Amino acid sequence: MKRCPLCRAALNGADTCRRCRAELQKVQEVEREGQALLEAGMHSLSLGDAVAAERLLRRAVALHAAPETVALRQVVTASLRPFGDADAGGP
Ligand SMILES: [Zn+2]
Repeated sequence: MKRCPLCRAALNGADTCRRCRAELQKVQEVEREGQALLEAGMHSLSLGDAVAAERLLRRAVALHAAPETVALRQVVTASLRPFGDADAGGP
């Protein structure tokens, strides 16, 4: 987290905002957990396990919906979706 989510002041690695005094330790912790889940999801993908990747990415998005996490989850979810079954049944 580079900027305070409340007032946008630069944080420079601090966990308390120097401008508005917001304590961001818990928020940064959640962001880190989301990042770790994203990385675990990408690792699962690299091993060819898209089902595990989707599960990890779903948890990552629930924790911290970073744009790159949301986008990757959409791609993985779409890849798991079964093909249309409109013509599966016979007459
Ligand atoms: Zn602030």
